[in-house]
Amino acid sequence: MENPRVAILGLGVMGSGMAARLLAEKFQVTVYNRNPQKSIALGDNGAFVASSPREAAARSEVVISMVADDGASRAVWSGENGALAGASSTTVLIESSTLSVGWVKRLAAVAAQRGCELLDAPVTGTKSHAASGQLSFLVGGSAEALKKAQPVFSALGRETVHLGPTGSGALVKLVNNFLCGVQAASLAEGFSLIEKSGLNYDKAVAFLINGAAGSPLIKTVSARATARDFTPIFLMRLMAKDLIYASEEGNQHRVPLQTAASALAVFQQAIATGRGEEDFSAVIESLRQQ
Ligand code: NAP
Repeated sequence: MENPRVAILGLGVMGSGMAARLLAEKFQVTVYNRNPQKSIALGDNGAFVASSPREAAARSEVVISMVADDGASRAVWSGENGALAGASSTTVLIESSTLSVGWVKRLAAVAAQRGCELLDAPVTGTKSHAASGQLSFLVGGSAEALKKAQPVFSALGRETVHLGPTGSGALVKLVNNFLCGVQAASLAEGFSLIEKSGLNYDKAVAFLINGAAGSPLIKTVSARATARDFTPIFLMRLMAKDLIYASEEGNQHRVPLQTAASALAVFQQAIATGRGEEDFSAVIESLRQQ
């Protein structure tokens, strides 16, 4: 069976890698990005460069949005030139950005009014996983829509986990990033304490990352903090956004996420010193410089 034609809306760190991966896997790919500069390299590699999300959707059987936040998602799907306006009732719509559950559900309802089905399918994994087809998709929505999109998920990811109805993928992703954000903020504080108290940093850190506290995330962020390599992979402002969305969802269910609030304060302090466009692992730098 021939691969479906795919549109990727949003060519940031993640979307650009996903589009390149699909091209390498011989999919017909249409790309759209608000800033057209980011489409040029993919256009040179065989992607069709659309001038609007609407045009991208009209050319495609599967449309994936991979943009920053709720506002960006609204911008690419809605309005006269939005992807919903270009989709037909057979197009499978996929929202892979990390967004609030409330917005994902509203978007799915608007899509349904137009006769389209939307899957929320945020991802875990980062830049290198996007480019090499090693993402994990956390999916909410119907099994039928998931089946139609499976060839695309299989090209982009190593696993597709169907978590339940619309919004389920978005919620699990927010819990995932809440847990990651809290760990990264506590690492920044713990490691700063070690440095400022004059302990042997290398010895203490080697012990900590190989003990009970040494989760995969702690190991990765620790390596970056030690090497002071903060090449942007997952931006600090995006981590703050996820902690805000997770807290809002916690409040909806009367589970106040107090540790998310504390972690958010640590990230916001770093952002206030101009680090919002840096990788989230650079959160330790603002504490080092206090
Ligand atoms: P990014 O590099 O900052 O790219 C953001 C994308 O959103 C760009 O294409 C940007 O377009 C677009 N955008 C922002 N505001 C917009 C608006 N108002 N209208 C239209 N487009 C808009 O972000 P990323 O790292 O690729 O992340 C994308 C999503 O995946 C986010 O929800 C993030 O939380 C999630 N995520 C990221 C990672 C990671 O490791 N980076 C991992 C998992 C999930 P312009 O180029 O025109 O600004």
